[in-house]
Amino acid sequence: MDEIRIENLEIYAGHGVFAEENRTGQPFFVSAVLYTDTYKAGKEDDLQYSTHYGEVCHFMNQFLKEHTYKLIEAAAEQTARQVLLRFPLVKAIDLEIRKPKAPIGLPFETVSVKIHRSWKQAYIALGSNMGDKEGYLNEAVTKLRQNPLIRKVEVSDFIVTKPYGGVEQDDFLNGAAKIETLYTPYELLIFLQELEQEASRERLVHWGPRTLDLDVLFFEDFVSDDKVLTVPHPDMQNRDFVLKPLCQLSPYYMHPVLLKSVKQMLSELKDRA
Ligand code: ADP
Ligand code: MG
Repeated sequence: MDEIRIENLEIYAGHGVFAEENRTGQPFFVSAVLYTDTYKAGKEDDLQYSTHYGEVCHFMNQFLKEHTYKLIEAAAEQTARQVLLRFPLVKAIDLEIRKPKAPIGLPFETVSVKIHRSWKQAYIALGSNMGDKEGYLNEAVTKLRQNPLIRKVEVSDFIVTKPYGGVEQDDFLNGAAKIETLYTPYELLIFLQELEQEASRERLVHWGPRTLDLDVLFFEDFVSDDKVLTVPHPDMQNRDFVLKPLCQLSPYYMHPVLLKSVKQMLSELKDRA
């Protein structure tokens, strides 16, 4: 990915653990690498296809002056997040904040925190088999779209499928969504569980009827076999109601553990059936 670089932007601000630092302030030096595609802006020689580094500098200056953080970790975290939210062509950012006048009481050149943050691609399975199924799924999609920490929501068609797991119950309506998010995998899970709660889902029977079921299928190349969050979803390769909608969105997306594409997993599942 191409880079737009800002080096040592000097910002006078009040971040620090000591009240004195918050009151009088001191210089901070901010460096940022904005990861973005500059090809079209370069070819057309037109700023509308790129991100204005001047605007980013002024934005970071204003943001770091208007807020006060105890830690440069927090100042960096919040600044990086706001740049990613505000400048949509920026896919990822390296952000370094140096604090050369930090109150250490020893001779030193500088101290700094440097972080890398980015929009992450994730896939979510949606399911419902109670009440207004389509209404529950659409409501979930709307709430995904309304969350500022989620963007570029693409949704598959919804398909009617037979229940799974041997419990006697109504047919399911299933779909999948592709998103980009600033959440961590666990934060995304918590948000999805809030949406399930809001759909007044009651967990009575395992694999039993539910108004809304939202599962994390993939989260970039993140792999976890934790019980709270297993990613990639451990049973996806056996579920055609997951693979079919997913295949409509991203047939060549690779499972990071099985090293098979969605399309290949679906065709192998059909061969087994
Ligand atoms: P299921 O989706 O398997 O039918 P539930 O929706 O009731 O069952 O999920 C039960 C638990 O599964 C949740 O408490 C959650 O912590 C855990 N879980 C593990 N991995 C995932 C995942 N990838 N997506 C969603 N929930 C998960
Ligand atoms: Mg679930």
